[in-house]
Amino acid sequence: MTEHTLTVAGVAIDTRHWIGGERVASTETFTDVSPIDGSVLGEISRGTATEAAAAVAAAKAAFPGWAATPRAERARVLHAIADGVEKRLEELAIVETTDNGALLRSHRRGVMPRVAHNFRFFADWLLQLEHEDFDTRGHTNHVSWDPAGPSVLITPWNAPLMLSTWKVAPALAAGNTVVLKPAEWTPLTASLLADIAAEAGLPAGVLNVVQGYGSEIGDALTSHPDVRRISFTGSVPTAKRISESASGNLTPLSLELGGKSPLLVFADADLDLAVDLAVEQYDNAGQVCLAATRFLVEESVAEEFTRRFVQKAATLVQGDPRDEATDIGPNIHPNQLDKIDGFVQRALAAGARAVIGGHRKDGQYYAPTLLTDVAQDSEIVQEEVFGPVLTLQTFTTEEEAVRLANDTRFGLAATLATGDPERAERVTARLVAGTVWVNCFFVRDLQAPFGGSRHSGVGREGGTWSFDFYCDIKNTVTAPKGWKDHG
Ligand code: NAD
Repeated sequence: MTEHTLTVAGVAIDTRHWIGGERVASTETFTDVSPIDGSVLGEISRGTATEAAAAVAAAKAAFPGWAATPRAERARVLHAIADGVEKRLEELAIVETTDNGALLRSHRRGVMPRVAHNFRFFADWLLQLEHEDFDTRGHTNHVSWDPAGPSVLITPWNAPLMLSTWKVAPALAAGNTVVLKPAEWTPLTASLLADIAAEAGLPAGVLNVVQGYGSEIGDALTSHPDVRRISFTGSVPTAKRISESASGNLTPLSLELGGKSPLLVFADADLDLAVDLAVEQYDNAGQVCLAATRFLVEESVAEEFTRRFVQKAATLVQGDPRDEATDIGPNIHPNQLDKIDGFVQRALAAGARAVIGGHRKDGQYYAPTLLTDVAQDSEIVQEEVFGPVLTLQTFTTEEEAVRLANDTRFGLAATLATGDPERAERVTARLVAGTVWVNCFFVRDLQAPFGGSRHSGVGREGGTWSFDFYCDIKNTVTAPKGWKDHG
């Protein structure tokens, strides 16, 4: 064990940056703490503009070689990274759970397999990415997706490795080189990813990982003139800051931001299904951007829906996320807990009623909460809480349901429970949302476009949309042999 290594459940993790194929330490560090019990996991290199510049320089130097690497070879390396993820799946799962407090069983069975799938999917998609040539008066048009250059990828703590690799995989597949900056509350699995990528044969400098506070290292990354793409997942205020910082170089941005998504429950819905969908919104202790946190329930079934919801929510087990029986783990950080409780207490003071919850619990846990008697223009209905806090409002007409659903500044997702397919079609067409789920929730396919409208984001990633973002798209027009007419 060196001074630059920490261990989690026997897994050794390098606490330094990964730049140009080497570990690089900063003079300063920050402390990484587990949300499960507040225990200190270790000291992590605290990057500044110096490390940002070094990482972008390494990505720039590695770019020509990786961009010129044939698609099949890039795809092969990405599959080798997926193999490495699968080989270390148990280690990644326990490290991530210890670092961000999300359920170990989800990491084992859902999240880490998806991390491997991110690499496999974009490797395979690359191999079939093409646009059929087309003709213009005898000339052939050929569309190509050219690698764009060094890409800065900035990610949050709520699903660290899954959200990072959802960007890293397509960026690398596209032939770009990458500087990844994970969230400072969850730095560990990104460091393991650097090891896995190197073992898989990814050339030095193609993937770089820098650690640190966004406020200290962020601007140096996002304002850098050699950076050709920035993909960010996180909060709206940070997105605004990044947009300003990137504007000097007109660096193309993909922004995946917050939400305040509705769950619309119509009287014709299967109520048991609606309740199942509703209770799912406590997943990851409510720290899910896509969560349908605003229940909009048709008045005639609201009482029965609430009764069944309360009954079902009472069966959820809250506790240590390493325990297989646990359904809801801790929230990420004491600051986040204060933020959540602030929202709830202000809502209660403004006249809301807590049907369940409404208070902290011991440790870093918040009681699953459902608030009613909330006004549409109130803070609790309009602002993202990012904790296990849901609201319930009623409606009497479809028109009113749509109006309430669309009446926030967000537009990430919407979920509908209805037994009427025609209603589903009518309502879906009028909802402002990047994703709509009808009688289901969180069914995600990597070839689907993913992103948000309004303050929930800019752009779409997924399938070909990812390559459209990470590449410079070129159209080449070739004249037929012997073409002489320039008119
Ligand atoms: P955040 O904006 O505080 O931080 C996200 C990342 O940005 C972190 O890595 C942070 O270090 C970095 N950062 C902070 N300041 C920066 C700066 N000035 N320049 C560059 N980088 C900077 O968000 P968070 O609290 O970590 O994440 C929660 C938010 O993320 C919620 O709003 C949630 O809805 C959103 N989110 C969205 C999606 C999506 O796909 N739409 C997915 C998950 C989370």
